[in-house]
Amino acid sequence: MYSKTLPAGIDKILWSETKIQRRVCELAAEIEQDYLKSISNKHPRYQPIVAIGILKGAFIFLADLIRAISVPVEPDFVRVSSYSMGVNPGQLHFVHDAKTSLKERHVLIVEDIVDTGLTLSFLANEFKKRGAASIKFCALIDKTCRREKEVQLDYVGFHYSGDAFLVGYGLDYEEMYRNLIYIATLSPSAIQSSS
Ligand code: 5GP
Repeated sequence: MYSKTLPAGIDKILWSETKIQRRVCELAAEIEQDYLKSISNKHPRYQPIVAIGILKGAFIFLADLIRAISVPVEPDFVRVSSYSMGVNPGQLHFVHDAKTSLKERHVLIVEDIVDTGLTLSFLANEFKKRGAASIKFCALIDKTCRREKEVQLDYVGFHYSGDAFLVGYGLDYEEMYRNLIYIATLSPSAIQSSS
């Protein structure tokens, strides 16, 4: 249940808790079916899917998603950031890297929201170099208006063509709002007043 008044800075709820939970279960069912077709747990070299969540935004989505998948899944996390200065400004690097060896593993990259696509394309290149058997992308939200790198998303929760800043269900604005149970737009005035 939501209180009638939204928290300060929140404009409009886009997806309620119920809608999110329903969509997460649908995605989990799709993922499970696809993996059951391509990898069998009777195969002698069978290993669980490695689901890699991108911190911090994907932590709630990953937790809900993998609990709705009934085939074995091994969770891990990465955190990436871009250099603001120095020799390669804007270039992405790992702040925290996955601990799991990805060689010959089926990797599912789990992202909260895809915006420019630079993060996913960086991770796909890195994980290919490590010899992953397959790499698939699962994004809760596909926000298309600022896309720079074309990325083929295998599983998408919600499509968003607007240009508002979204918060809730793991998504933050300056570390706030991650614990909202829904996903909402942040009012432009909330962004202006903090900058
Ligand atoms: P990109 O696809 O641009 O490389 O990066 C996506 C990342 O940018 C997301 O994981 C998230 O951290 C951040 N991001 C992009 N758009 C939004 C948004 O609307 N709200 C929030 N909270 N984060 C966003």
